[in-house]
Amino acid sequence: MKVLVAVKRLVDYSVKVRVKADHSGVDLAGVKMSLNPFDEIAVEEAVRLKEKGSATEIVVVTIGDKSCQDSLRTALALGADRAIHIETSLETQPLGVAQALKALVERESPELVILGKQAIDDDCNQTGQMLSALLGWPQGTFISKLTVKNKEIEVIREVDGGLETLQMPLPAVLTTDLRLNEPRYATLPNIMKAKQKPLEILTAEALGVDLSPHLKTLSVSEPPGRKAGIKVETVDQLIDKLRNEAKVI
Ligand code: AMP
Repeated sequence: MKVLVAVKRLVDYSVKVRVKADHSGVDLAGVKMSLNPFDEIAVEEAVRLKEKGSATEIVVVTIGDKSCQDSLRTALALGADRAIHIETSLETQPLGVAQALKALVERESPELVILGKQAIDDDCNQTGQMLSALLGWPQGTFISKLTVKNKEIEVIREVDGGLETLQMPLPAVLTTDLRLNEPRYATLPNIMKAKQKPLEILTAEALGVDLSPHLKTLSVSEPPGRKAGIKVETVDQLIDKLRNEAKVI
């Protein structure tokens, strides 16, 4: 089974982002960039499938500018076999990414596509769902367990009321939740080996896809700062303030 994993390079989760002075977006100058954490989990799951003998090849793909090739090298160091970079200078948005992934699926014929449940920069949580709709394939979103059974898979999803178990035929699209696995660290020998693994560069035009954004960001602003708290002297005062000022009781 060939597995395609989509990975996005974005601002590291530990960075406190700053909004640009003109409110046009987040300032990326000098900021640490990393692989989207949910995509690391997707790569890890694919590597585990290969270690168990269920997957034969893992192809990782990213869509973005030249700098995104770091993320592909990281995914290769984590265990992917080869990488595809769909190079674009345009800002990527879920529909364009899903269309590019569909074109790549038609070229590569994987039986399983794994994405993160959301990219932590735009928090869209749309790409996997759009891809499954464009392909007409079943989808398992926010999965916390995956079992491969011949030509079928079983996934467990975390839903409001508890855990939902679904069975679906392959090919399918999956998106990862945090509890699916704990990704390994790339070892130094694997980082060195990753430099020799194949990385193909494609354009959206070559795939016949238009990545032009459909949405325009009008403004980005920081959340309002937290107001200073006050100390109350008695429980009665606290209840009075909760009732009459905060109006929460
Ligand atoms: P989103 O719908 O933007 O929250 O992204 C969900 C998932 O889609 C991510 O976790 C990635 O697996 C994939 N994805 C989104 N944008 C890209 C991109 N530019 N290149 C590759 N994969 C992407």
